[in-house]
Amino acid sequence: MTSRNDRAEGVLLGTAAGDALGAPYEFQPPRGAELPVEMTGGGPWEPGEWTDDTAMAIAIAEVAATGADLQDEAAQDAIVSRWHTWSLTAKDVGIQTRSVLSAAARHAPITAVAARAASADHHQRTGRTAGNGSLMRTAPVAPAYLDDEDAMVTAARAISELTHFDPDAGDAAVLWCCAIRHAVLTTELDVRVGLRHLDADRRALWTARLDDAEALRPAEIPNNGWVVAALQAAWSAIVTTRGGGPAHLRAGLDAAVRAGFDTDTVAAIAGGLLGAAYGASAVPLQWRSRLHGWPGMTARDLVGLATAIQRPGATSTGPTYAGYRTDALVTHPFDDGVLIGGIGALRKLPAEVDAVVSLCRVADADVPTGMPHVEVRLIDSVDADENPHLDHVLLDAVGAVEELRAQGRTVLLHCVEAYSRTPTVAALYGARVRGVSGDEALRAVLDVLPEANPNAVFRDAVRRLGVAT
Ligand SMILES: [Mg+2]
Repeated sequence: MTSRNDRAEGVLLGTAAGDALGAPYEFQPPRGAELPVEMTGGGPWEPGEWTDDTAMAIAIAEVAATGADLQDEAAQDAIVSRWHTWSLTAKDVGIQTRSVLSAAARHAPITAVAARAASADHHQRTGRTAGNGSLMRTAPVAPAYLDDEDAMVTAARAISELTHFDPDAGDAAVLWCCAIRHAVLTTELDVRVGLRHLDADRRALWTARLDDAEALRPAEIPNNGWVVAALQAAWSAIVTTRGGGPAHLRAGLDAAVRAGFDTDTVAAIAGGLLGAAYGASAVPLQWRSRLHGWPGMTARDLVGLATAIQRPGATSTGPTYAGYRTDALVTHPFDDGVLIGGIGALRKLPAEVDAVVSLCRVADADVPTGMPHVEVRLIDSVDADENPHLDHVLLDAVGAVEELRAQGRTVLLHCVEAYSRTPTVAALYGARVRGVSGDEALRAVLDVLPEANPNAVFRDAVRRLGVAT
């Protein structure tokens, strides 16, 4: 169940990761394998900043998080209103979306009815409303309906039609949401599960399109500003890469960006589905620590928003850990620039600390201000379902400490009690710093944290991953 929550949280985070990864390369031709794809920012975009794809998806997610049924007119009014507010200051708005929103806003307040009418009018005048701009934002509709596929299908199509009248856009939103929902529920990647929701002739058409996508590489699918080609390119990026888990998420997004042209959108689309299959914990910390964007959110906020979609209306400011022994705080035996401890050390932060790596959930009030903060999803459990990508997460956490140390920062590495998670990551970090085995590093860490006792699965991981050099 916790890994299902992780996957639901991966939907929005994966969307944002693909979006920010692709943003620097938008409008460029397909990118050769010799060229890097990195979350560097570019143009108006800061490193890790997401674009319109994620911003518009967040507006949908915010309304879903209130517990509203997205099929309802009032919920769609709220979404359109939020989009319009966003569009007034946005760095980029798709041509069709801007046209529809500004026409619909002529009579304030803007409504879903007015948006739909403007979308239909745009279609009649231009004959074209099959841009990829509704598919790019559709992902959060899926986690709002994990228990009701038919309602999700209705909501996905209706929200697509708010700006994109063409049935290809609605079909694409339905197919992609069905695939995302299926991935959250089962971990399987299958874009055909939603075909049954289309009419027979449309089903045959889309089946042929999906067959085509699987026979081509993303860069071989032209015109990916068109919703059909964008879906094909995203699906091609997923099926032509592999690796499983975090490696597949990374390779799939890399391939999506290399398609060229509408890079951020193709990668955002692919990211929603890859994040659903592999979870938020599969998104590299290096990306998570950089991700940010409208409306002043970070990766942490996206996870919070996704959690709220699962438990609408429940306001939680996070765990307090009352009753735990949280006051441990010692210096790492192999690196005096790393302090290790419990969450009490975060709350009474030593003056020399200027970066924090949290291995447990922290409350909003405990988030340190004015310094880099990395939050790792690691559960102190021997159940493999709780930590579906344990090795990736452990090494990613070690990598986060190393990166912050390379920047000259003094790092607090902590969990709740420094009992199991903190000594495990501290030992793996120590093994790399000192070039000793994981066992030897763990002994040194447990000498300074005598109360600590990592669980058996974590001890195995220390042995497996901590290799003397
Ligand atoms: Mg964009």
